[in-house]
Amino acid sequence: MSHIDTICVQGGYHPGNGEPRQVPIIQSTTFKYDTSEDMGKLFDLEAEGYFYSRLQNPTCDHAAAKICEMEGGATAMLTSSGQAANFYAVFNIATCGDHVVASSSIYGGTYNLFAVTMKKMGVEFTFVAPNCTDEELEAAFRPNTKAVFGETIANPALTVLDIEKFAAAAHRHGVPLIVDNTFATPVLCRPFQWGADIVTHSTTKYMDGHASAIGGCIVDSGNFDWMAHAEKFPGLCTPDDSYHGITYATRFGKGAYITKATAQLMRDFGSTPSPQSAFLLNLGLESLHVRMQRHCENAQAVAEHLQNHEKIAWVRYSGLEGDPYHAQAVKYLPNGSCGVVSFGVKGGRAAAETFMKHLKLGAIATHVADARTCCLHPASSTHRQMNDQELIAAGVSADLVRLSVGLESKEDLIADIDQALAAL
Ligand SMILES: *Cc1c(COP(=O)(O)O)cnc(C)c1O
Repeated sequence: MSHIDTICVQGGYHPGNGEPRQVPIIQSTTFKYDTSEDMGKLFDLEAEGYFYSRLQNPTCDHAAAKICEMEGGATAMLTSSGQAANFYAVFNIATCGDHVVASSSIYGGTYNLFAVTMKKMGVEFTFVAPNCTDEELEAAFRPNTKAVFGETIANPALTVLDIEKFAAAAHRHGVPLIVDNTFATPVLCRPFQWGADIVTHSTTKYMDGHASAIGGCIVDSGNFDWMAHAEKFPGLCTPDDSYHGITYATRFGKGAYITKATAQLMRDFGSTPSPQSAFLLNLGLESLHVRMQRHCENAQAVAEHLQNHEKIAWVRYSGLEGDPYHAQAVKYLPNGSCGVVSFGVKGGRAAAETFMKHLKLGAIATHVADARTCCLHPASSTHRQMNDQELIAAGVSADLVRLSVGLESKEDLIADIDQALAAL
């Protein structure tokens, strides 16, 4: 396999003689066939091909194929958002009456999806601390557990998942580990190498990298043996009546999980990415490896500066030697800990808000991971539906400022932070 830098630039799309060098935007809802018989084969999943862009579109498939190669996966699909990716990834194997073990240190939107919305759909979640003991992790499993879920680098708590440990526990119980790899990206960590079975992304973040298009992706390693645990996964291992009795796991092998998510969930829920968004995503991917390096370098410098500043109460960045997750970062993130740093300003919630107001380069935005530096106060925005106890469990204190360090000069960023802190 090529180096990830080469895959970022050239993966997923290989034009033939005389074809467009850049991925073409196939802005078409539908595709033409000569006979009804040809089309019928597509509907029965007997032949591969495009017929309606709610299910599959060539532009989207090129971007998905690139991300699949970057992760070292077997198959992948794009979704319209990271939320849709995580929902599909879990709901594809856990439905009403099932249970999932999840790290408590996850994105606020994912927590809400799991703890509130999917709970209403009959899927129960048990949340465990990312640094839980083996016994605590073991105790979270139930006979109806169907998956384990965590984030490589959690947004916004910045804990680093012990992927090997969570994968081992999942596999002891015959279920896959799903890892949201949004903040690390495959440039910094490839969860499949550590035993994860399925990876999800909000491509909205570093992959897009320019705050231009919402999107998501699901990648399957193809490593999980569904048939070996057939009683747990009837959706994959018994015939699907809505496709003339196809059994995904026997018919599609390593493609079973993504085929089912496309054929059932995308068909029925329709969280379809637009070809235009997939094109923008692919443009972002072409420079991801270069940008991640700079994001990491800038964030490391900012984190080290903040750590020594008298007006800062605490800093969390796993690239810092004193960070509680530093050992995990050394293992899983040897090339850097992404561009996001969180910290508390002395003086708590009010001081955090004053500091943020005075930043000139760092804009207040409900976003992370694009070229421009931005910041957010999660307790009053993304996590505001949580009570104080839930905030603590999610690793988000009331004074936490999340700074997404962009691609500007690190000297300018540090000067901007210093003048904003001087205003306190
Ligand atoms: C942003 C984010 C999501 C949700 O993605 P959207 O593209 O905003 O729907 C999921 N997981 C993580 C870790 C995120 O940062």
